[in-house]
Amino acid sequence: MKLPEARAGAARRLAAAGIEGAARDADRILAAVLVVEPGRLRLLDRALTAEELAGLDQGLAARAARQPVAQIVGFRDFYAHRFRVTRDTLDPRPETEVLVQAALDLPWNSVLDMGTGTGAILISLLAARRGAVGLGTDISGAALDVARDNAQIIGVTAGFVLADWYEGVTGRFDLIVSNPPYIALSEMAELAPDVREWEPHGALTDGADGLSAYHAIAAGARDHLNPGGHVLVEIGPAQGSAVSILFAGAGAETRVISDLDGRDRVVLARFPA
Ligand code: GLN
Repeated sequence: MKLPEARAGAARRLAAAGIEGAARDADRILAAVLVVEPGRLRLLDRALTAEELAGLDQGLAARAARQPVAQIVGFRDFYAHRFRVTRDTLDPRPETEVLVQAALDLPWNSVLDMGTGTGAILISLLAARRGAVGLGTDISGAALDVARDNAQIIGVTAGFVLADWYEGVTGRFDLIVSNPPYIALSEMAELAPDVREWEPHGALTDGADGLSAYHAIAAGARDHLNPGGHVLVEIGPAQGSAVSILFAGAGAETRVISDLDGRDRVVLARFPA
């Protein structure tokens, strides 16, 4: 089968399975099988090998079963780099790039990323600010293995430790960042099956009201920040005031930052010197 035909068939198959954005997902899967960029697919006209067809079939079947494309192809492009993604890590979201950009607008030379997952935030920051030092933590050892791999592949040096929030984290940092689990347990049912059934629950929900991670982060911030240090946390769009109030209560000046869709997405907290 020639490529244009395989490409159209792949899109049709995902559309028939009810996948939103079927053509785009089919292209990402086909491109990964052929090891080319999706934008180059329409330039190719060769026949697919039996092995490529089998790989495509397997990828499409997984997507039809709602597995996220990033898990199927094994990577996600985030900010300026390509990150390895597995079932043990949250798939880095484009809206999280707002947090990275906000962090790069601040002065800092040391950064702590709690719940680093793929390492996308920490590694993006350290790649953009050469000479800075960083530590990534996670409660999942499997996620930390992925983060370590990503750091090595991208060529960034960072420390990675297994830790439950600040437990076992020593030293002080200029900046603390986190995209913690912030979905309330009661809201998990509303998530798309792609997220709910395939992404690690511990990266999505705190199993409570969605705010417990912020309580933990705010409570230890002063003890782990250098004077005048900042905290940047990703939030759900409805959590801006609750999270601001929480950090203000811990002694910080706060500001809410929106994502490109205009939704509240990040809280910046500055702890005065
Ligand atoms: N933004 C993710 C989602 O909506 C949630 C990630 C998180 O809880 N940190 O699926």
